[in-house]
Amino acid sequence: MCEQFDEKYKDRLVKMMGCDADTAHFYYSVEDDEFFQISGNLFPDISGDPLDYLMTSGLIEKQSEPVFSVFSSKIQDGIINGTDKNSAYTDISIKLPGCEEYKMCHLYALFLRDENDKITDIHYNLRPYTPIENFNREVLKAFSSDKNPKLFAGRCARVIKDNPDKEIAFIQFDVERFKLINETYGVEMGDNLLQFFNDSLALVCSEEQPFCRLTADVYMIVTTFDTKDNLISFIRKVESMLCGYHGMEYRLVFGVSVVDDRTCHTRRHGDNASLARQLIKGNALQNIGFYSSNMKTELQKKQSIEDDMHKALLNNEFVMFLQPKHSISTGRIIGAEALARWNHPTKGMVSPGEFIPVFEQNGFIIKLDEFIWEEACKRIRSWIDAGLEPVPISVNISREYIHTIDVTSTLLKLVEKYDIPISLLELEITETLDSKGVEDIVKKMKNAGFKMLMDDFGSGYSSLNMLKSTPFDVLKIDKSFLDEFMESTRGRKIIEHTISMSQDIGLDIIAEGVETLEQAEFLSECGCDSAQGFYYSKPIPAADFDKRLVEINGKHV
Ligand code: C2E
Ligand code: CA
Ligand code: CA
Repeated sequence: MCEQFDEKYKDRLVKMMGCDADTAHFYYSVEDDEFFQISGNLFPDISGDPLDYLMTSGLIEKQSEPVFSVFSSKIQDGIINGTDKNSAYTDISIKLPGCEEYKMCHLYALFLRDENDKITDIHYNLRPYTPIENFNREVLKAFSSDKNPKLFAGRCARVIKDNPDKEIAFIQFDVERFKLINETYGVEMGDNLLQFFNDSLALVCSEEQPFCRLTADVYMIVTTFDTKDNLISFIRKVESMLCGYHGMEYRLVFGVSVVDDRTCHTRRHGDNASLARQLIKGNALQNIGFYSSNMKTELQKKQSIEDDMHKALLNNEFVMFLQPKHSISTGRIIGAEALARWNHPTKGMVSPGEFIPVFEQNGFIIKLDEFIWEEACKRIRSWIDAGLEPVPISVNISREYIHTIDVTSTLLKLVEKYDIPISLLELEITETLDSKGVEDIVKKMKNAGFKMLMDDFGSGYSSLNMLKSTPFDVLKIDKSFLDEFMESTRGRKIIEHTISMSQDIGLDIIAEGVETLEQAEFLSECGCDSAQGFYYSKPIPAADFDKRLVEINGKHV
Protein backbone atom coordinates (compact mmCIF):
# COMPACT_ATOMS: atom_id res chain seq x y z
CA MET A 1 0.00 0.00 0.00
CA CYS A 2 0.94 3.55 -0.52
CA GLU A 3 2.28 4.83 2.69
CA GLN A 4 3.78 8.10 3.44
CA PHE A 5 7.25 8.15 4.82
CA ASP A 6 7.09 6.08 7.91
CA GLU A 7 8.79 7.44 10.99
CA LYS A 8 9.14 3.94 12.36
CA TYR A 9 11.35 2.92 9.44
CA LYS A 10 13.21 6.14 9.59
CA ASP A 11 14.18 5.49 13.19
CA ARG A 12 15.25 2.01 12.31
CA LEU A 13 17.36 3.15 9.39
CA VAL A 14 18.88 5.95 11.35
CA LYS A 15 19.86 3.48 14.03
CA MET A 16 21.21 0.95 11.58
CA MET A 17 23.19 3.45 9.64
CA GLY A 18 24.43 5.21 12.71
CA CYS A 19 23.74 8.51 11.03
CA ASP A 20 22.02 11.45 12.57
CA ALA A 21 18.33 11.95 12.09
CA ASP A 22 18.72 14.90 9.74
CA THR A 23 20.66 12.94 7.17
CA ALA A 24 18.86 12.87 3.88
CA HIS A 25 17.13 9.63 3.07
CA PHE A 26 14.12 8.28 1.24
CA TYR A 27 12.28 5.06 0.81
CA TYR A 28 9.74 3.41 -1.40
CA SER A 29 7.57 0.35 -1.23
CA VAL A 30 7.29 -2.70 -3.34
CA GLU A 31 4.11 -4.64 -3.88
CA ASP A 32 3.52 -7.60 -6.17
CA ASP A 33 7.11 -7.34 -7.27
CA GLU A 34 6.44 -3.88 -8.71
CA PHE A 35 8.10 -0.71 -7.64
CA PHE A 36 5.23 1.06 -6.19
CA GLN A 37 5.71 4.27 -4.45
CA ILE A 38 8.39 6.69 -3.51
CA SER A 39 8.43 9.21 -0.77
CA GLY A 40 11.01 10.83 1.36
CA ASN A 41 12.72 14.11 1.63
CA LEU A 42 15.75 13.86 -0.58
CA PHE A 43 14.16 14.43 -3.96
CA PRO A 44 10.74 15.66 -2.95
CA ASP A 45 9.24 16.26 -6.38
CA ILE A 46 9.80 12.95 -8.12
CA SER A 47 7.66 9.92 -8.54
CA GLY A 48 8.38 6.51 -9.97
CA ASP A 49 11.42 4.37 -9.48
CA PRO A 50 14.06 6.35 -7.61
CA LEU A 51 16.78 4.28 -9.19
CA ASP A 52 15.52 5.21 -12.64
CA TYR A 53 15.25 8.76 -11.50
CA LEU A 54 18.83 8.79 -10.28
CA MET A 55 20.01 7.17 -13.49
CA THR A 56 18.39 9.75 -15.75
CA SER A 57 18.74 12.77 -13.51
CA GLY A 58 22.32 13.58 -14.35
CA LEU A 59 22.96 13.64 -10.62
CA ILE A 60 25.25 10.64 -10.83
CA GLU A 61 28.74 11.26 -12.07
CA LYS A 62 29.40 9.60 -15.45
CA GLN A 63 32.12 7.44 -13.94
CA SER A 64 29.73 6.05 -11.34
CA GLU A 65 26.95 5.17 -13.74
CA PRO A 66 28.04 1.62 -14.65
CA VAL A 67 28.48 0.66 -11.00
CA PHE A 68 25.13 2.15 -10.28
CA SER A 69 23.57 0.03 -13.03
CA VAL A 70 25.07 -3.06 -11.46
CA PHE A 71 23.67 -2.01 -8.11
CA SER A 72 20.29 -1.41 -9.60
CA SER A 73 20.18 -4.81 -11.36
CA LYS A 74 21.19 -6.43 -8.14
CA ILE A 75 18.23 -4.85 -6.40
CA GLN A 76 15.90 -5.96 -9.19
CA ASP A 77 17.38 -9.41 -8.91
CA GLY A 78 16.71 -9.37 -5.18
CA ILE A 79 13.09 -8.50 -5.77
CA ILE A 80 12.45 -10.87 -8.64
CA ASN A 81 14.46 -13.88 -7.57
CA GLY A 82 14.44 -13.27 -3.85
CA THR A 83 18.11 -13.36 -3.00
CA ASP A 84 19.24 -14.47 0.42
CA LYS A 85 20.60 -11.04 1.17
CA ASN A 86 18.94 -8.46 3.28
CA SER A 87 20.84 -5.43 2.20
CA ALA A 88 23.06 -4.03 -0.50
CA TYR A 89 25.21 -0.98 -0.62
CA THR A 90 27.55 0.82 -2.89
CA ASP A 91 29.62 3.95 -3.16
CA ILE A 92 28.57 6.33 -5.87
CA SER A 93 29.48 9.85 -6.69
CA ILE A 94 26.34 11.97 -6.69
CA LYS A 95 25.57 15.64 -7.03
CA LEU A 96 23.13 16.31 -4.23
CA PRO A 97 20.45 18.89 -4.78
CA GLY A 98 21.72 22.31 -3.92
CA CYS A 99 25.37 21.24 -4.32
CA GLU A 100 27.73 22.33 -7.08
CA GLU A 101 30.03 19.34 -6.91
CA TYR A 102 29.73 15.60 -6.89
CA LYS A 103 30.16 13.99 -3.52
CA MET A 104 31.09 10.44 -2.74
CA CYS A 105 27.99 8.95 -1.14
CA HIS A 106 26.98 5.77 0.53
CA LEU A 107 23.86 4.28 -0.99
CA TYR A 108 22.30 1.66 1.18
CA ALA A 109 19.30 -0.51 0.47
CA LEU A 110 17.60 -2.56 3.12
CA PHE A 111 15.16 -5.30 2.11
CA LEU A 112 12.23 -5.72 4.45
CA ARG A 113 10.47 -9.07 4.29
CA ASP A 114 7.15 -10.49 5.34
CA GLU A 115 6.71 -13.70 7.33
CA ASN A 116 7.13 -15.73 4.10
CA ASP A 117 10.45 -14.07 3.51
CA LYS A 118 9.06 -12.18 0.55
CA ILE A 119 10.46 -8.75 0.06
CA THR A 120 7.82 -6.17 0.78
CA ASP A 121 9.80 -2.99 1.04
CA ILE A 122 13.15 -1.68 0.11
CA HIS A 123 14.45 1.22 2.03
CA TYR A 124 17.11 3.34 0.54
CA ASN A 125 19.45 5.54 2.35
CA LEU A 126 21.75 7.83 0.56
CA ARG A 127 24.15 10.09 2.33
CA PRO A 128 27.41 11.81 1.60
CA TYR A 129 30.52 10.64 3.36
CA THR A 130 32.11 13.06 5.76
CA PRO A 131 35.79 13.86 5.06
CA ILE A 132 36.82 11.59 7.93
CA GLU A 133 34.69 8.76 6.62
CA ASN A 134 36.13 9.28 3.17
CA PHE A 135 39.59 8.93 4.55
CA ASN A 136 38.65 5.82 6.53
CA ARG A 137 37.06 4.39 3.42
CA GLU A 138 40.28 4.73 1.47
CA VAL A 139 42.27 3.13 4.29
CA LEU A 140 39.77 0.31 4.56
CA LYS A 141 39.82 -0.20 0.82
CA ALA A 142 43.59 -0.48 0.80
CA PHE A 143 43.39 -3.27 3.34
CA SER A 144 40.30 -5.02 2.12
CA SER A 145 40.64 -8.55 0.88
CA ASP A 146 39.83 -7.58 -2.71
CA LYS A 147 43.30 -6.04 -2.92
CA ASN A 148 45.11 -8.15 -0.40
CA PRO A 149 45.88 -11.70 -1.50
CA LYS A 150 46.93 -12.78 1.98
CA LEU A 151 43.67 -11.75 3.53
CA PHE A 152 41.93 -13.28 0.56
CA ALA A 153 43.67 -16.63 1.02
CA GLY A 154 42.51 -16.64 4.63
CA ARG A 155 38.93 -16.00 3.59
CA CYS A 156 39.08 -18.74 0.96
CA ALA A 157 40.36 -21.22 3.48
CA ARG A 158 37.48 -20.27 5.72
CA VAL A 159 34.91 -20.84 2.96
CA ILE A 160 36.34 -24.34 2.48
CA LYS A 161 36.35 -25.05 6.20
CA ASP A 162 32.89 -23.66 6.90
CA ASN A 163 31.22 -25.57 4.08
CA PRO A 164 32.19 -29.21 4.40
CA ASP A 165 28.99 -30.35 2.69
CA LYS A 166 29.04 -28.01 -0.26
CA GLU A 167 30.94 -27.94 -3.50
CA ILE A 168 33.43 -25.11 -3.82
CA ALA A 169 34.78 -23.45 -6.93
CA PHE A 170 37.70 -21.14 -7.52
CA ILE A 171 36.85 -18.90 -10.43
CA GLN A 172 39.59 -16.89 -12.06
CA PHE A 173 38.91 -14.46 -14.85
CA ASP A 174 40.54 -11.75 -16.86
CA VAL A 175 39.92 -9.57 -19.87
CA GLU A 176 40.97 -11.14 -23.13
CA ARG A 177 43.76 -9.05 -24.62
CA PHE A 178 43.59 -6.38 -21.97
CA LYS A 179 46.61 -4.75 -23.57
CA LEU A 180 44.46 -3.97 -26.58
CA ILE A 181 42.01 -2.13 -24.30
CA ASN A 182 44.79 0.09 -23.07
CA GLU A 183 45.91 0.69 -26.63
CA THR A 184 42.42 1.37 -27.97
CA TYR A 185 40.86 3.35 -25.16
CA GLY A 186 43.88 4.62 -23.25
CA VAL A 187 45.48 3.53 -20.00
CA GLU A 188 43.21 5.68 -17.89
CA MET A 189 40.10 3.99 -19.25
CA GLY A 190 41.83 0.66 -18.63
CA ASP A 191 42.33 1.65 -14.98
CA ASN A 192 38.76 2.85 -14.68
CA LEU A 193 37.53 -0.43 -16.09
CA LEU A 194 39.43 -2.35 -13.42
CA GLN A 195 38.06 -0.09 -10.71
CA PHE A 196 34.60 -0.78 -12.10
CA PHE A 197 35.29 -4.52 -11.82
CA ASN A 198 36.27 -4.08 -8.18
CA ASP A 199 33.18 -2.05 -7.39
CA SER A 200 30.85 -4.37 -9.25
CA LEU A 201 32.27 -7.51 -7.74
CA ALA A 202 31.65 -6.02 -4.32
CA LEU A 203 28.02 -5.82 -5.35
CA VAL A 204 27.66 -9.14 -7.11
CA CYS A 205 29.51 -11.26 -4.58
CA SER A 206 28.06 -11.91 -1.18
CA GLU A 207 29.96 -12.02 2.12
CA GLU A 208 30.46 -15.73 1.54
CA GLN A 209 31.97 -15.21 -1.90
CA PRO A 210 35.39 -13.62 -1.36
CA PHE A 211 37.03 -12.06 -4.37
CA CYS A 212 40.37 -10.50 -5.07
CA ARG A 213 42.26 -8.73 -7.80
CA LEU A 214 45.39 -10.82 -8.15
CA THR A 215 47.43 -8.94 -10.73
CA ALA A 216 46.76 -6.39 -13.48
CA ASP A 217 43.44 -7.59 -14.83
CA VAL A 218 43.22 -11.02 -13.21
CA TYR A 219 40.54 -11.62 -10.60
CA MET A 220 39.56 -14.55 -8.44
CA ILE A 221 36.24 -15.37 -6.84
CA VAL A 222 35.62 -18.27 -4.50
CA THR A 223 32.11 -19.56 -4.09
CA THR A 224 30.10 -22.53 -2.92
CA PHE A 225 27.61 -24.07 -5.31
CA ASP A 226 25.19 -26.97 -5.52
CA THR A 227 24.98 -27.83 -9.21
CA LYS A 228 27.27 -27.07 -12.12
CA ASP A 229 24.39 -25.26 -13.83
CA ASN A 230 24.03 -22.94 -10.88
CA LEU A 231 27.73 -22.28 -10.88
CA ILE A 232 27.62 -21.44 -14.56
CA SER A 233 24.67 -19.10 -14.08
CA PHE A 234 26.57 -17.34 -11.32
CA ILE A 235 29.52 -16.89 -13.70
CA ARG A 236 27.19 -15.65 -16.43
CA LYS A 237 25.75 -13.16 -13.98
CA VAL A 238 29.19 -11.88 -13.08
CA GLU A 239 29.96 -11.65 -16.80
CA SER A 240 26.82 -9.70 -17.63
CA MET A 241 27.34 -7.28 -14.78
CA LEU A 242 30.95 -6.66 -15.71
CA CYS A 243 30.61 -6.29 -19.44
CA GLY A 244 29.73 -3.21 -21.44
CA TYR A 245 31.48 -0.62 -19.28
CA HIS A 246 30.88 2.71 -21.03
CA GLY A 247 30.20 0.89 -24.31
CA MET A 248 33.70 -0.61 -24.42
CA GLU A 249 34.07 -3.92 -26.23
CA TYR A 250 35.89 -6.67 -24.39
CA ARG A 251 35.47 -10.31 -23.49
CA LEU A 252 36.00 -11.97 -20.14
CA VAL A 253 37.61 -15.39 -19.93
CA PHE A 254 36.92 -17.64 -16.95
CA GLY A 255 38.88 -20.58 -15.59
CA VAL A 256 37.22 -22.72 -12.94
CA SER A 257 38.73 -25.17 -10.52
CA VAL A 258 36.29 -27.24 -8.53
CA VAL A 259 37.84 -28.19 -5.18
CA ASP A 260 38.30 -31.93 -5.00
CA ASP A 261 40.92 -32.22 -2.31
CA ARG A 262 40.13 -29.94 0.61
CA THR A 263 43.46 -30.50 2.28
CA CYS A 264 45.36 -28.76 -0.52
CA HIS A 265 46.57 -25.22 -0.06
CA THR A 266 44.17 -22.67 -1.53
CA ARG A 267 46.99 -21.60 -3.85
CA ARG A 268 46.79 -24.95 -5.62
CA HIS A 269 43.12 -24.42 -6.46
CA GLY A 270 43.96 -20.92 -7.62
CA ASP A 271 46.75 -22.22 -9.85
CA ASN A 272 44.40 -24.79 -11.35
CA ALA A 273 41.80 -22.15 -12.12
CA SER A 274 44.53 -20.07 -13.70
CA LEU A 275 45.58 -22.96 -15.90
CA ALA A 276 42.02 -23.51 -17.06
CA ARG A 277 41.72 -19.81 -17.87
CA GLN A 278 44.91 -19.69 -19.88
CA LEU A 279 43.93 -22.69 -21.92
CA ILE A 280 40.45 -21.45 -22.78
CA LYS A 281 41.83 -18.09 -23.90
CA GLY A 282 41.40 -17.46 -27.59
CA ASN A 283 38.66 -20.05 -27.91
CA ALA A 284 36.06 -18.34 -30.04
CA LEU A 285 33.22 -20.52 -28.89
CA GLN A 286 33.71 -20.76 -25.14
CA ASN A 287 34.87 -18.46 -22.40
CA ILE A 288 34.52 -20.73 -19.40
CA GLY A 289 37.11 -23.46 -18.94
CA PHE A 290 37.03 -26.12 -16.23
CA TYR A 291 40.30 -27.44 -14.87
CA SER A 292 41.21 -31.03 -15.56
CA SER A 293 44.38 -32.86 -14.63
CA ASN A 294 45.75 -33.20 -18.20
CA MET A 295 45.81 -29.43 -18.59
CA LYS A 296 49.32 -29.13 -17.22
CA THR A 297 50.85 -30.98 -20.14
CA GLU A 298 48.76 -28.98 -22.59
CA LEU A 299 49.98 -25.74 -21.10
CA GLN A 300 53.58 -26.94 -21.11
CA LYS A 301 53.25 -27.70 -24.81
CA LYS A 302 51.83 -24.26 -25.40
CA GLN A 303 54.63 -22.65 -23.44
CA SER A 304 57.35 -24.50 -25.27
CA ILE A 305 55.84 -23.31 -28.56
CA GLU A 306 55.88 -19.75 -27.30
CA ASP A 307 59.47 -20.10 -26.08
CA ASP A 308 60.64 -21.28 -29.48
CA MET A 309 58.60 -19.30 -31.98
CA HIS A 310 60.68 -16.14 -32.35
CA LYS A 311 63.88 -18.09 -32.80
CA ALA A 312 62.10 -20.34 -35.28
CA LEU A 313 61.24 -17.44 -37.54
CA LEU A 314 64.82 -16.13 -37.45
CA ASN A 315 66.24 -19.60 -38.16
CA ASN A 316 63.92 -20.23 -41.08
CA GLU A 317 62.28 -23.17 -39.38
CA PHE A 318 58.89 -22.28 -40.83
CA VAL A 319 58.33 -23.61 -44.30
CA MET A 320 55.62 -23.24 -46.85
CA PHE A 321 54.06 -26.46 -48.10
CA LEU A 322 51.79 -26.42 -51.11
CA GLN A 323 48.73 -28.55 -51.61
CA PRO A 324 47.63 -28.78 -55.23
CA LYS A 325 44.11 -27.97 -56.35
CA HIS A 326 42.96 -30.05 -59.29
CA SER A 327 40.41 -29.92 -62.04
CA ILE A 328 38.38 -33.08 -61.53
CA SER A 329 37.58 -33.44 -65.23
CA THR A 330 41.05 -32.88 -66.69
CA GLY A 331 43.20 -33.83 -63.70
CA ARG A 332 45.33 -30.75 -64.28
CA ILE A 333 46.68 -28.63 -61.43
CA ILE A 334 44.71 -25.41 -61.31
CA GLY A 335 46.20 -23.88 -58.21
CA ALA A 336 47.66 -24.50 -54.78
CA GLU A 337 47.04 -23.62 -51.16
CA ALA A 338 49.98 -22.45 -49.09
CA LEU A 339 50.07 -24.20 -45.71
CA ALA A 340 52.59 -23.57 -42.99
CA ARG A 341 54.78 -26.25 -41.44
CA TRP A 342 57.28 -25.91 -38.63
CA ASN A 343 60.48 -27.83 -39.19
CA HIS A 344 61.43 -27.95 -35.53
CA PRO A 345 65.05 -28.87 -34.67
CA THR A 346 64.03 -31.46 -32.06
CA LYS A 347 60.37 -32.20 -32.72
CA GLY A 348 60.63 -32.63 -36.48
CA MET A 349 57.88 -31.47 -38.82
CA VAL A 350 55.10 -29.95 -36.70
CA SER A 351 51.57 -29.54 -38.07
CA PRO A 352 49.77 -26.21 -37.96
CA GLY A 353 47.04 -27.68 -35.76
CA GLU A 354 49.58 -27.56 -32.92
CA PHE A 355 50.94 -24.07 -33.30
CA ILE A 356 48.40 -21.96 -35.24
CA PRO A 357 45.88 -21.79 -32.35
CA VAL A 358 48.68 -20.65 -30.02
CA PHE A 359 49.86 -18.04 -32.50
CA GLU A 360 46.31 -16.84 -32.99
CA GLN A 361 46.09 -16.23 -29.29
CA ASN A 362 49.34 -14.43 -28.84
CA GLY A 363 49.36 -12.48 -32.09
CA PHE A 364 52.42 -14.17 -33.57
CA ILE A 365 50.16 -15.38 -36.39
CA ILE A 366 50.64 -12.01 -38.08
CA LYS A 367 54.36 -12.68 -38.40
CA LEU A 368 53.86 -16.21 -39.62
CA ASP A 369 51.17 -15.20 -42.10
CA GLU A 370 53.32 -12.43 -43.52
CA PHE A 371 56.16 -14.89 -43.90
CA ILE A 372 53.98 -17.39 -45.76
CA TRP A 373 52.48 -14.68 -47.96
CA GLU A 374 55.95 -13.62 -48.98
CA GLU A 375 57.02 -17.21 -49.62
CA ALA A 376 53.99 -17.66 -51.88
CA CYS A 377 54.82 -14.54 -53.88
CA LYS A 378 58.45 -15.62 -54.18
CA ARG A 379 57.35 -18.99 -55.48
CA ILE A 380 55.10 -17.51 -58.12
CA ARG A 381 57.98 -15.27 -59.23
CA SER A 382 60.26 -18.29 -59.49
CA TRP A 383 57.74 -20.12 -61.70
CA ILE A 384 57.51 -17.16 -63.99
CA ASP A 385 61.29 -16.87 -64.10
CA ALA A 386 61.66 -20.58 -64.83
CA GLY A 387 59.24 -20.35 -67.73
CA LEU A 388 56.58 -22.48 -66.06
CA GLU A 389 52.98 -21.61 -66.56
CA PRO A 390 52.16 -20.27 -63.08
CA VAL A 391 49.06 -21.33 -61.14
CA PRO A 392 47.47 -19.18 -58.46
CA ILE A 393 48.46 -19.79 -54.84
CA SER A 394 45.91 -19.13 -52.15
CA VAL A 395 47.17 -18.03 -48.75
CA ASN A 396 45.35 -18.15 -45.43
CA ILE A 397 44.53 -14.95 -43.64
CA SER A 398 43.87 -15.25 -39.98
CA ARG A 399 40.78 -13.31 -38.95
CA GLU A 400 42.10 -12.80 -35.46
CA TYR A 401 44.20 -9.75 -36.12
CA ILE A 402 42.72 -8.68 -39.39
CA HIS A 403 41.84 -5.33 -37.84
CA THR A 404 45.19 -4.60 -36.31
CA ILE A 405 47.30 -4.40 -39.45
CA ASP A 406 46.49 -3.15 -42.92
CA VAL A 407 46.48 -6.57 -44.58
CA THR A 408 45.48 -5.26 -47.98
CA SER A 409 48.35 -2.85 -48.33
CA THR A 410 50.82 -5.41 -46.95
CA LEU A 411 49.69 -7.85 -49.66
CA LEU A 412 49.71 -5.22 -52.38
CA LYS A 413 53.28 -4.33 -51.47
CA LEU A 414 54.29 -7.98 -51.81
CA VAL A 415 52.63 -8.27 -55.21
CA GLU A 416 54.54 -5.19 -56.29
CA LYS A 417 57.84 -6.30 -54.76
CA TYR A 418 57.80 -9.62 -56.62
CA ASP A 419 56.15 -8.09 -59.65
CA ILE A 420 53.54 -10.81 -60.05
CA PRO A 421 50.02 -10.60 -61.53
CA ILE A 422 47.59 -9.97 -58.68
CA SER A 423 45.35 -12.73 -60.05
CA LEU A 424 47.95 -15.29 -58.97
CA LEU A 425 47.65 -14.49 -55.26
CA GLU A 426 44.32 -15.62 -53.82
CA LEU A 427 43.15 -15.08 -50.27
CA GLU A 428 41.36 -17.53 -47.98
CA ILE A 429 39.42 -16.27 -45.00
CA THR A 430 37.21 -18.30 -42.72
CA GLU A 431 33.74 -16.93 -42.57
CA THR A 432 31.87 -17.00 -39.28
CA LEU A 433 28.61 -15.69 -37.99
CA ASP A 434 29.98 -12.46 -36.60
CA SER A 435 30.97 -11.45 -40.09
CA LYS A 436 30.14 -7.77 -39.84
CA GLY A 437 33.59 -6.42 -39.17
CA VAL A 438 35.31 -8.74 -41.60
CA GLU A 439 32.96 -8.00 -44.47
CA ASP A 440 34.34 -4.52 -45.06
CA ILE A 441 37.90 -5.77 -45.08
CA VAL A 442 37.03 -8.54 -47.51
CA LYS A 443 35.39 -5.97 -49.78
CA LYS A 444 38.50 -3.84 -49.61
CA MET A 445 40.69 -6.78 -50.60
CA LYS A 446 38.38 -7.69 -53.42
CA ASN A 447 38.34 -4.11 -54.67
CA ALA A 448 42.13 -4.10 -54.59
CA GLY A 449 41.97 -6.97 -57.10
CA PHE A 450 42.42 -10.11 -55.02
CA LYS A 451 40.28 -13.17 -55.56
CA MET A 452 38.56 -13.97 -52.25
CA LEU A 453 37.89 -17.52 -51.06
CA MET A 454 35.53 -18.27 -48.21
CA ASP A 455 37.33 -21.01 -46.30
CA ASP A 456 35.70 -23.86 -44.38
CA PHE A 457 32.23 -23.32 -45.80
CA GLY A 458 29.73 -25.66 -44.16
CA SER A 459 31.94 -26.41 -41.18
CA GLY A 460 29.35 -25.16 -38.76
CA TYR A 461 30.02 -21.47 -38.53
CA SER A 462 28.84 -20.36 -41.89
CA SER A 463 25.31 -20.50 -43.15
CA LEU A 464 23.47 -20.24 -46.42
CA ASN A 465 21.93 -17.06 -45.15
CA MET A 466 25.32 -15.43 -45.33
CA LEU A 467 25.53 -15.96 -49.07
CA LYS A 468 22.99 -13.20 -49.66
CA SER A 469 25.46 -10.40 -49.33
CA THR A 470 28.81 -12.10 -49.40
CA PRO A 471 31.70 -10.26 -50.99
CA PHE A 472 33.52 -13.56 -51.70
CA ASP A 473 34.29 -15.02 -55.14
CA VAL A 474 34.76 -18.67 -54.26
CA LEU A 475 33.29 -21.01 -51.67
CA LYS A 476 35.59 -23.65 -50.28
CA ILE A 477 33.46 -26.53 -49.15
CA ASP A 478 34.84 -27.92 -45.94
CA LYS A 479 35.87 -31.53 -45.55
CA SER A 480 33.38 -32.06 -42.72
CA PHE A 481 30.50 -30.87 -44.92
CA LEU A 482 31.48 -33.29 -47.64
CA ASP A 483 32.01 -36.21 -45.24
CA GLU A 484 28.81 -35.69 -43.36
CA PHE A 485 26.47 -35.13 -46.28
CA MET A 486 27.93 -37.65 -48.69
CA GLU A 487 26.65 -40.40 -46.42
CA SER A 488 22.94 -40.07 -47.12
CA THR A 489 20.81 -39.45 -50.19
CA ARG A 490 19.34 -36.39 -48.53
CA GLY A 491 22.78 -35.09 -47.71
CA ARG A 492 23.92 -35.56 -51.28
CA LYS A 493 20.94 -33.53 -52.40
CA ILE A 494 22.00 -30.76 -50.03
CA ILE A 495 25.52 -30.74 -51.45
CA GLU A 496 24.16 -30.75 -54.98
CA HIS A 497 21.83 -27.83 -54.32
CA THR A 498 24.40 -25.85 -52.40
CA ILE A 499 26.69 -26.13 -55.39
CA SER A 500 24.10 -25.21 -58.00
CA MET A 501 22.68 -22.41 -55.91
CA SER A 502 26.12 -20.90 -55.30
CA GLN A 503 26.86 -21.06 -58.99
CA ASP A 504 23.52 -19.42 -59.73
CA ILE A 505 24.53 -16.42 -57.71
CA GLY A 506 27.91 -16.27 -59.38
CA LEU A 507 30.12 -17.98 -56.84
CA ASP A 508 32.75 -20.52 -57.83
CA ILE A 509 33.10 -23.67 -55.78
CA ILE A 510 36.04 -25.77 -54.70
CA ALA A 511 35.79 -28.80 -52.44
CA GLU A 512 38.53 -29.52 -49.97
CA GLY A 513 39.37 -32.68 -48.12
CA VAL A 514 38.54 -34.85 -51.11
CA GLU A 515 39.91 -38.26 -50.22
CA THR A 516 38.27 -40.69 -52.61
CA LEU A 517 37.53 -41.10 -56.30
CA GLU A 518 33.87 -41.52 -55.36
CA GLN A 519 33.84 -38.06 -53.78
CA ALA A 520 35.57 -36.51 -56.77
CA GLU A 521 33.11 -38.11 -59.19
CA PHE A 522 30.12 -37.07 -57.14
CA LEU A 523 31.35 -33.46 -57.00
CA SER A 524 31.91 -33.48 -60.70
CA GLU A 525 28.35 -34.72 -61.29
CA CYS A 526 27.08 -31.87 -59.14
CA GLY A 527 28.92 -29.38 -61.31
CA CYS A 528 31.87 -28.70 -59.04
CA ASP A 529 35.05 -29.30 -61.00
CA SER A 530 37.67 -28.06 -58.53
CA ALA A 531 39.00 -30.21 -55.73
CA GLN A 532 41.79 -30.28 -53.19
CA GLY A 533 42.53 -33.23 -50.98
CA PHE A 534 44.56 -36.29 -50.19
CA TYR A 535 43.00 -38.14 -53.14
CA TYR A 536 45.17 -35.91 -55.32
CA SER A 537 47.98 -35.02 -52.98
CA LYS A 538 48.83 -34.09 -49.43
CA PRO A 539 50.44 -30.70 -48.84
CA ILE A 540 54.03 -31.13 -50.09
CA PRO A 541 57.25 -29.13 -49.96
CA ALA A 542 57.31 -26.40 -52.60
CA ALA A 543 60.13 -28.08 -54.55
CA ASP A 544 58.08 -31.28 -54.83
CA PHE A 545 55.13 -29.24 -55.96
CA ASP A 546 57.22 -27.74 -58.75
CA LYS A 547 58.06 -31.23 -60.02
CA ARG A 548 54.43 -32.25 -59.90
CA LEU A 549 53.42 -29.13 -61.73
CA VAL A 550 55.79 -29.91 -64.57
CA GLU A 551 54.81 -33.60 -64.63
CA ILE A 552 51.09 -32.94 -64.77
CA ASN A 553 50.71 -29.61 -66.52
CA GLY A 554 53.84 -29.77 -68.64
CA LYS A 555 56.40 -27.05 -69.10
CA HIS A 556 55.40 -23.99 -71.06
CA VAL A 557 58.09 -21.64 -72.14
P1 C2E B 1 42.69 -25.11 -43.81
O1 C2E B 1 43.01 -23.75 -44.32
O2 C2E B 1 41.27 -25.53 -43.86
O3 C2E B 1 43.63 -26.07 -44.62
C1 C2E B 1 43.25 -27.32 -45.04
C2 C2E B 1 43.71 -28.38 -44.12
O4 C2E B 1 43.10 -29.60 -44.50
C3 C2E B 1 45.22 -28.62 -44.19
O5 C2E B 1 45.63 -29.02 -42.89
C4 C2E B 1 45.32 -29.81 -45.11
O6 C2E B 1 46.48 -30.58 -44.91
C5 C2E B 1 44.10 -30.59 -44.72
N1 C2E B 1 43.65 -31.45 -45.77
C6 C2E B 1 43.66 -31.22 -47.09
N2 C2E B 1 43.15 -32.23 -47.77
C7 C2E B 1 42.80 -33.15 -46.86
C8 C2E B 1 42.21 -34.46 -46.94
O7 C2E B 1 41.88 -34.98 -48.02
N3 C2E B 1 41.98 -35.13 -45.80
C9 C2E B 1 42.32 -34.58 -44.59
N4 C2E B 1 42.09 -35.31 -43.49
N5 C2E B 1 42.87 -33.37 -44.46
C10 C2E B 1 43.11 -32.66 -45.60
P2 C2E B 1 46.89 -28.36 -42.24
O8 C2E B 1 47.93 -28.08 -43.26
O9 C2E B 1 47.22 -29.19 -41.07
O10 C2E B 1 46.32 -26.96 -41.77
C11 C2E B 1 45.37 -26.89 -40.77
C12 C2E B 1 44.86 -25.50 -40.64
O11 C2E B 1 45.87 -24.63 -40.15
C13 C2E B 1 44.46 -24.87 -41.97
O12 C2E B 1 43.18 -25.28 -42.30
C14 C2E B 1 44.53 -23.41 -41.63
O13 C2E B 1 43.36 -23.00 -40.94
C15 C2E B 1 45.67 -23.34 -40.67
N6 C2E B 1 46.88 -22.90 -41.39
C16 C2E B 1 47.80 -23.63 -42.03
N7 C2E B 1 48.78 -22.82 -42.52
C17 C2E B 1 48.44 -21.56 -42.20
C18 C2E B 1 49.03 -20.26 -42.40
O14 C2E B 1 50.07 -20.10 -43.03
N8 C2E B 1 48.37 -19.19 -41.88
C19 C2E B 1 47.20 -19.32 -41.20
N9 C2E B 1 46.61 -18.23 -40.73
N10 C2E B 1 46.63 -20.51 -40.99
C20 C2E B 1 47.23 -21.62 -41.48
CA1 CA C 1 42.59 -22.61 -45.97
CA1 CA D 1 39.68 -25.05 -45.11
